[in-house]
Amino acid sequence: MSAPTVSIRSKFPGIGTNIFTAMNAVAQEHQAVNLAQGFPSFDCPPELLEYVTTAFRAGRNQYAPMPGLPELREGISEKVKFLYGRTYDPATEITITPGGHAALMSAAMAILHPGDEAIVFEPSFDCFAPIVKLCGATPVPIKLTFPEYSIPWGIVAERITPQTKLIWINTPHNPTGSILGPEDIRSLVRVVQGTNIVVLSDEVYEHITFDGHEHQSVCRTPELAERSFSIYSFGKVYHATGWKIGYCLAPSYLMQEFRKIHQMTTFTTNHPIQWGLSQYIKNRNHYLELAQFYQAKRDYFIAGLKGSRFDVLAAKGSYFQCLTYRRISEEPEMSFAKRLARDAKVAAIPVSAFYEDGTDNGVLRFCFAKSNEILDQATEALRKM
Ligand code: PMP
Repeated sequence: MSAPTVSIRSKFPGIGTNIFTAMNAVAQEHQAVNLAQGFPSFDCPPELLEYVTTAFRAGRNQYAPMPGLPELREGISEKVKFLYGRTYDPATEITITPGGHAALMSAAMAILHPGDEAIVFEPSFDCFAPIVKLCGATPVPIKLTFPEYSIPWGIVAERITPQTKLIWINTPHNPTGSILGPEDIRSLVRVVQGTNIVVLSDEVYEHITFDGHEHQSVCRTPELAERSFSIYSFGKVYHATGWKIGYCLAPSYLMQEFRKIHQMTTFTTNHPIQWGLSQYIKNRNHYLELAQFYQAKRDYFIAGLKGSRFDVLAAKGSYFQCLTYRRISEEPEMSFAKRLARDAKVAAIPVSAFYEDGTDNGVLRFCFAKSNEILDQATEALRKM
């Protein structure tokens, strides 16, 4: 590589290749079954593909309106009313974004200024704390309890300062598969009441909750909905993570600020895909069946592990299952994950990668959004460890 021509100051001197890229490379090197990747091995519904193709052919190939296609925003509004009982105005309270990730970024940027603090929970999806830093604010990490991965609300109350402007939650949770329950929602209401704290709620796995647990969207609770951005991803709902399309809901005074950021960063989102989704979203069956579909996958994966020396942690939602391997080895997670890829030919993600301080409880994250054949191959190898 050539020497730098100009001297630049890195925004993230400490950040290298992310853990997903690193583990994918390890998986490829050893030709391992890849349960590290957080995306499905199956395709999106054919009917949706038809709609999207129609949109391309019908010439819907120029910019969509800045907040998103009205037809899609209306469909989302109806869906949210049906699921969570709150009406979001398509004109002023819903914005379509190029993925859930971009929506998280715009929401955080809309709120956080240099000097502000944002509470984030660890382990967390890897972009949360870096986004807070990009805004010039300070992430205040609070560890979820182990092994339940629940929020220690007493500690949250203690860590709030006059600088706290944001609490960033994620339910169902990546990487642990934990979910927030009604009691958590009551605790969150108590913590934010009477403050100027905004809630940023990552709900991209909203449809994937198990064992009869209902997804606790912030939209259900007026005291939270009034001060929250909630974020969704069509990629997760329709097995189309490569499309990178999602949306944000927020009351109009928050959405106004969100749209200023969205307008100046990405401006608008893929038009033909929005149109395809605006047609397909009317079919409720696909997303209503998702919980059952993934619960069967989770149970199939766990059944396949019977007789292995891995221990299964509770997974109440998302498409991730965490396993501990302390009965097999005392090795750190990264070294065990690499050995697993080499010897068992199964790739997974060390959960330590989702903590800023690398907390290592001997836990790996496995993605079970895969065909039963892939899961069979993985569990057969895991049983031999
Ligand atoms: N939040 C969480 C918790 C995720 O797991 C992901 C995707 N892995 C995203 C946000 C990003 O969603 P999208 O792919 O729609 O940008």
